[in-house]
Amino acid sequence: MEEEQEVVLNVKWQKRNFSIELGRAETVSDLRARLFSLTDVLVEHQKLIGLPSVSMRVGSKDETRQLGSLKLKPEHSVLLVGTPSEEIAALEAHANAALDRFDVFDDLEDDLASNLGDRVVDMASARRRLERRIATTNIQEINPPREGKRLLMLDIDFTVFDCKSTAPTVAELGRPGLHEFLASVYVNYDIIIWSQTSWRWLEAKITELGMLMNPEYKLMATLDRTSMFAVTSIRNAKRRTHEVKALEVIWRKYPERYSAKNSIAVDDLRRNFMMNPQSGLRISPFKNAPVTRATDRELYSLEKYLRLIAEKETDFTTLDHSKWKDYCKKNVDSSSASNGHQ
Ligand code: MG
Repeated sequence: MEEEQEVVLNVKWQKRNFSIELGRAETVSDLRARLFSLTDVLVEHQKLIGLPSVSMRVGSKDETRQLGSLKLKPEHSVLLVGTPSEEIAALEAHANAALDRFDVFDDLEDDLASNLGDRVVDMASARRRLERRIATTNIQEINPPREGKRLLMLDIDFTVFDCKSTAPTVAELGRPGLHEFLASVYVNYDIIIWSQTSWRWLEAKITELGMLMNPEYKLMATLDRTSMFAVTSIRNAKRRTHEVKALEVIWRKYPERYSAKNSIAVDDLRRNFMMNPQSGLRISPFKNAPVTRATDRELYSLEKYLRLIAEKETDFTTLDHSKWKDYCKKNVDSSSASNGHQ
């Protein structure tokens, strides 16, 4: 096996296990920042047990030590002790800072029409990360999968929720048609929500949006950032490092049920599909909700597409989701044409 060029840590926290990768030159302080983004435990409240000759608590000189200089075992285990912060303002500031970083990136890179020519650099290392995520991801079912259903992986931020605007109620930041959309796709699909956020934020968002208690549909499960991993990819001859939502994490947990043949992922960021580009449908981002909610009809169109392909297609790998709107038009056209002949 090729030797790891990075530090891999298996983190235990509360009842959860997850694995993270960091550069050998990154420091204890970088590790704490990453742990915060995954758990919402503020850096100053983190107690880290298991890093050799590093003080458990923040505030010592150890914080600047490089992880590569510590005597760590391969996939070294660390115990994180700490309670997630209730200081919503601090969490929000952190989340918004992360969004601002991504926004620049998105506007420059993510509006291009397709994945054509994109590729992951160093697939071997990406596969190792994938295997670790599969090993540490424990899909907690909210509702069990159902016989014969397809799989819809749905993003939250900017896909069905404008996480950056403010409104009198959270519901007003939900994308128009959200609940009708979910109720309709639920007929044919098991729904898994996957968000690049910590589980607490995710839970808060789907609860506030009313997605947990709706009588018309049920979510099967949620996945958070701890099941994502970073890859380096090339787009337009430019290298970039970003995290991905690899559907294989789900497929390998349910080999009898889901595969590329019956799965589709919907996200406003194409780069999230980098490990399974063919299964991804990139939806236009829902932003500036107070204004755009008057005109945004994307979920109505998407509902139609997901219904049509579930009714007509036995193998989703034959589809080009970048042409999803054409597919809807064509299928409507052909049905009205045949009606005309009768
Ligand atoms: Mg998003």
